[in-house]
Amino acid sequence: MHVQVTDKATREPIGRVSIARAAEVAEVVARASEAFATWSDVPVVERARFFFRYADALERRHQDLALSVSRENGKTLADARGEVRRGIEAVEFACGMPSLMMGDALSNVARGVDCTSTRYPLGVCAGITPFNFPAMIPLWMFPIAIAAGNTFVLKPSPQTPLTSERLLEIAHDCRFPDGVLSVVHGGQETAEALIEHPAVAAVSFVGSSKVARAIQERAVRAHKRVQALGGAKNYLIVMPDAVNAATCEAVIGSAFGGAGQRCLAGSVVVAVGDAGDALAPMLVDAAARLRLGRGSDDGTEMGPVVSDDALARINGYVERDVASGALLCRPSTQLRVTQELSGAFLEPLIFDRVDPTSELARDEIFGPVLAIVRASSLDEAIEIANRSRYGNASSIFTRDGGSAREFAARVEVGMAGINVGIAAPMAFFPFGGVKDSIFGDLRCHGMDAVAFYTQQRVVVSRWPS
Ligand code: NAD
Repeated sequence: MHVQVTDKATREPIGRVSIARAAEVAEVVARASEAFATWSDVPVVERARFFFRYADALERRHQDLALSVSRENGKTLADARGEVRRGIEAVEFACGMPSLMMGDALSNVARGVDCTSTRYPLGVCAGITPFNFPAMIPLWMFPIAIAAGNTFVLKPSPQTPLTSERLLEIAHDCRFPDGVLSVVHGGQETAEALIEHPAVAAVSFVGSSKVARAIQERAVRAHKRVQALGGAKNYLIVMPDAVNAATCEAVIGSAFGGAGQRCLAGSVVVAVGDAGDALAPMLVDAAARLRLGRGSDDGTEMGPVVSDDALARINGYVERDVASGALLCRPSTQLRVTQELSGAFLEPLIFDRVDPTSELARDEIFGPVLAIVRASSLDEAIEIANRSRYGNASSIFTRDGGSAREFAARVEVGMAGINVGIAAPMAFFPFGGVKDSIFGDLRCHGMDAVAFYTQQRVVVSRWPS
């Protein structure tokens, strides 16, 4: 069985992949398991060298990869280039594995007794990834896992599987041994076969919270190590001292970049005091100037959403909330839907004076819809953000250090931004949220990822004289 992949702006077929059933997943995992025996024995310095070559090859294919992301996802080429750049940074981080994997030692913990702790790889690791970052999110996972000595089986989203095939091809070009990195395609059934396979030691997942929770529970039942990053609803607090063009630009980029389909998208502005009175018309004006179109065309600032189902889900929210009395500002952007541009396009929408308890202000809509909520004080704004079931990211816009400091100390999120629309993942710091934005303890990226993909062994030794 195959999945046909389309250009999300034009619906033109651009490739297809075959779905892996449980038996095929088992074969791929068996090969990965066999490869683990030799790969884990390759000195870490040599394993790191594969990733120096890989980073270099990704750099040379940067444009090509960005085009693949843009076409299968719909996002703009600039956004796609940015995500490939973040992915390359994760590979560069993995190049430091000889230092990252170092253990600890303490001599003479008792008379004549020394103690060391050493990190070892786990075995076969699996990655299950979402549609919205087809290059970056796989690159959060397999470079660190593989450089640490594991082998890896990736199952990308069936909506955007082609970029993973390119990442695999590039690994082959860099002469990664067979079975070290594999890609299988499919949806729930393929993912479950992977999680349940006895030779899979650890599961990394990024996607919606509902699926993240189910995957974590399944993996825990099978006694696997698991990290499952889930969905988000991110609040951007704007103080009255920060109503200016730079804030407006940052909010627009955060809310409508990637057509709002980012786990870090700021989809609610919490305007404090009178900030909303001036900010709301600025945002509506700026949104009206966004150029919609095919992501891979020059000058496009917002592409379509990923599918008709996504469009229907987003429109459902819009209709329900219009009925609940929120004030809709529909900026009149200039998308001309032509025969070529027949994808699931939606113009950016801004709702003002939204009830902070409404679906629009609480649920992850995952589309180009921005809600403006009014709050009377910073305290109230932080409270609104902290009432969310999610806790991925939140930002404050202010010129006041005291407000920024208070926000950073009290906001319940994994990533807090100060005067930035997106508190973006950095390869060398852990990345992930809190509450329903993560299931599992260790995050992606940074030393959390090194800890996730390795186990420690403590050796206590005494040498009789
Ligand atoms: P999704 O949860 O629908 O799918 C994610 C992956 O899980 C895909 O590979 C899919 O095939 C697979 N899958 C779907 N249902 C499954 C099931 N029942 N059992 C096993 N596997 C299953 O997510 P999506 O629509 O591809 O991506 C959007 C979501 O991802 C949003 O909620 C977004 O916030 C989230 N996301 C989170 C982060 C983060 O860092 N926290 C980053 C990117 C995206």
